[in-house]
Amino acid sequence: MKKISVIVPCYNEEETIELYYKEMQKVMKKIKNTEFELIFINDGSSDKTLDILRNLSKNKDVRYISFSRNFGKEAGIYAGLKYATGDYIGLMDVDLQDPPEMLIDMYNILEEGEYDCVATRRVSREGEPPIRSFFARLYYKIINKISKTEIVDGARDFRLMTRQMVNSILEVTEYNRFSIGIFRWVGYKTKWLEYKNVERVAGTTKWSFWKLFLYSLESIVAFSTVPLSIASIFGILFCFVAFIIILIIIVRTLIFGDPTSGWPSMACIMFLIGGIQLLCTGIIGQYLSKTYLEVKNRPVYIVKETEKGLEK
Ligand code: UDP
Ligand code: MG
Repeated sequence: MKKISVIVPCYNEEETIELYYKEMQKVMKKIKNTEFELIFINDGSSDKTLDILRNLSKNKDVRYISFSRNFGKEAGIYAGLKYATGDYIGLMDVDLQDPPEMLIDMYNILEEGEYDCVATRRVSREGEPPIRSFFARLYYKIINKISKTEIVDGARDFRLMTRQMVNSILEVTEYNRFSIGIFRWVGYKTKWLEYKNVERVAGTTKWSFWKLFLYSLESIVAFSTVPLSIASIFGILFCFVAFIIILIIIVRTLIFGDPTSGWPSMACIMFLIGGIQLLCTGIIGQYLSKTYLEVKNRPVYIVKETEKGLEK
C-alpha cells in the first residue's frame, strides 16, 4: 500500500482549514488502496489556527508542525518535506485555490511510473488586478532571460512528487529558499497540468504587491548572477565613452582654446555616473547580504510543537 503525504502550510487560516479538510476527505476516499498523511504547518499564526490543528490531529491522517514564529511559506514547505514519510509527497495551499480533485490525476500519472513529479500551472489570472498580472508576466520574462534554471510562467507550488525527488530537494540545504526554482533545479521528469485560477474560499491573501515584488527580487538573486555583471558592462561602456570624449576635448582645445562652458552637461554626467555606481554597489550589496545569511547558517525554521507534543 502506497502512502501519500500532503504538506499544507497555514498562516492565519482559521477560516479555511476545516473547509479544506472536508474537501480532502472526499478526495482521499476516491484514491483507493492508499494511506494518507496530511501535514499542516502552522507558520506562527496569531489566530486560532493552532487550536484547530490540535483538534483536527485527533484524526489519524492529520499531523501538524507548529513553528515558534512566522518563518514564511518556503520554510513551511521545507519543514513539511523533512517530516513527510510518504512514498509520494504533495504540496497544497489550504485556501482551496489548489483544486483537491487534481490529486487523483496526479496520483494516477505518478503510478504509471514515467514521471517523477506532476506539477501545476495557472493559465488564467482571472480575479487578479491587471497591474499585478502585467508585472508577473514581466518578471517571468526577465528571470528566464537571466537564469539558467527555467522558471515556468504561472507555476504553482501545488504538485505531487516521488520520494526520490523529495530526497534530492532535501539535499539542497540553502537558507534563501525559492522552492519553484529548486524543484526545477534538481531535475527529474515533470508533467505539467494546467488549470484556471480559482479564488480562495475564505480569508485573505497573505501577499501584498510589495511583498511579491521583494520575493521576485529575491528569486532573481537566488537563481541568477547576471545582475552582478551589470557593473562590469557599464564600466566598459563608460570607459569607452570617456576615452572618445577625452580625444574630442583635446582636439577642440587645441583648435579653439579653452573657454569655460558646459557645466550643466557636466553636472548631468556626474549624476548619471554617480547613480549607476550606487546601483551597482546596491546589486553587489544584495548578493553580499544573501551570502551573509547563508554563511551564518541559521536554521530555516524552528519547531515549537508537533502532534506528538512539545518539541524537545
Ligand atoms: N502561508 C504561509 N506562511 C506565510 C504566508 C502564507 O504558510 O507567511 C500559506 C498560506 O496559509 C496559504 C499559502 O501559504 O496556505 C498561500 O498563501 P496565500 O493564499 O495567502 O497566497 P496566494 O494564493 O494569494 O498567492
Ligand atoms: Mg491563496
